[in-house]
Amino acid sequence: MSISTKNQNKKKNFKRVFKIIAIIIAAFVAINICVTIIFTQKIPHRYASAEEGKELMLSNTEYYSNYTQNDIEFRLKKSGATMEELLEVSTNEIRDYNIIEKYFIDHEIAKMAIKLAWNGYTFPETDEIVFVKSDMSVEMGNSGYTHGTQIYLNSGFVTIYSVLSIIPGFSDFFDELLWHEYFHCLSRCNPAFRTKMYSLIHFNVADTDFALPPCVQERYLSNPDVEHHDAYATFMIDGQEVDCFTAWITTMDYAQAQLEDDSCTTVVLVPIDGSDTYYTREQATNFDDVFGTNTGYVIDPEECMADNFAYAMFYGIKGKNGKGYPNPEIIQGVIDIVKR
Ligand SMILES: [Zn+2]
Repeated sequence: MSISTKNQNKKKNFKRVFKIIAIIIAAFVAINICVTIIFTQKIPHRYASAEEGKELMLSNTEYYSNYTQNDIEFRLKKSGATMEELLEVSTNEIRDYNIIEKYFIDHEIAKMAIKLAWNGYTFPETDEIVFVKSDMSVEMGNSGYTHGTQIYLNSGFVTIYSVLSIIPGFSDFFDELLWHEYFHCLSRCNPAFRTKMYSLIHFNVADTDFALPPCVQERYLSNPDVEHHDAYATFMIDGQEVDCFTAWITTMDYAQAQLEDDSCTTVVLVPIDGSDTYYTREQATNFDDVFGTNTGYVIDPEECMADNFAYAMFYGIKGKNGKGYPNPEIIQGVIDIVKR
């Protein structure tokens, strides 16, 4: 065989291999698109345009009417800032989703629906979920938050994850985030589900919200994911059992905080008997026994359970990389509730 014939054969073989690889990739993409289209519809959702997102944000009037001056100053990083300024900055941060981002989120939701079907989990119903994209500087660079069944996602995160999710394992954080935010939607739409979930970390849900005492009110930070202060647990404080709800506060006012480097937000325990006082988490000797230590995000039972729910759904009882959990009974409890 001449050298030129050998080269021609080599080229033919190369073309054939290239064709096979191209067909495999095209088939993989086609299957991926079909599976995404079919399964993403199992969790009803849509994407708000920037215009609609602004309207939706402003429709949360009850949430904004409860804002404290502390809320406004810390969010705008400005002493003496006003509510009008805050709403203007917040609405100006709302963006449109592009088609790649929408497909990426659809794909992640399809993965969630497949997981539910595979494990035989059933969730109570929610209203339609609406995704809103925001730059979120006003929410302190948060990756996501919710109002009702509106899920606000950080625009920077959405862009980065939608592009780099082709790297295996890269989208894990985003998947966890979606499960976490989905929990808030489920919890709001289904009081009985919320009560059962909170009971896994020893919280009882009362009939009405507890009022914030003056000493908490002045330093209070609102959290859109936490709509109610109606859940309490029994904490051991100075050797006594005290029924408390939780609140998220700043340890100083904004003017002071500008001079300090440390994070100045913390969770406090507020007695449900109405006294004008609060306790720090260090004062409660059983704080970790109440919340468990699967997550450090324990500013409220709603956030603690949103994280535990996300771990249970995304990693299962074996945990991330099979490493388990400090409190597997909470994860098993979540699974038992949704398995019924
Ligand atoms: Zn949350």
